[in-house]
Amino acid sequence: MKFTCPHCGEKTFSPLQKALAGSYRSVGKPCPKCGKKCCNGMGSIYFESIVSAIALIASLMVYFHFDSSQKQFSTLLIVAFILGSRVLNFLFRMFFGKLVAPIRRMQ
Ligand SMILES: [Zn+2]
Repeated sequence: MKFTCPHCGEKTFSPLQKALAGSYRSVGKPCPKCGKKCCNGMGSIYFESIVSAIALIASLMVYFHFDSSQKQFSTLLIVAFILGSRVLNFLFRMFFGKLVAPIRRMQ
């Protein structure tokens, strides 16, 4: 399974390379074939903001739901939510969304 480079149209990006190419706002990663920079499109930004919002709401709910005697457990849950959202974002970039040319072009 490979992803298509938006510059040369060849399937040059593996899922892992795509995930590491970063978001639309990053500088992106060069295509192995044509050398031009590619990054993940708007889809990953939308997904990321939704997942981050859910993780934040879940963390707040945990924070207010548990009292201080369960502090360790609630802290653990909040950390799990944050890590979980990072993993989800990474997986989304690996398997979904398209590669595009970054807006910030490094010359
Ligand atoms: Zn290319």
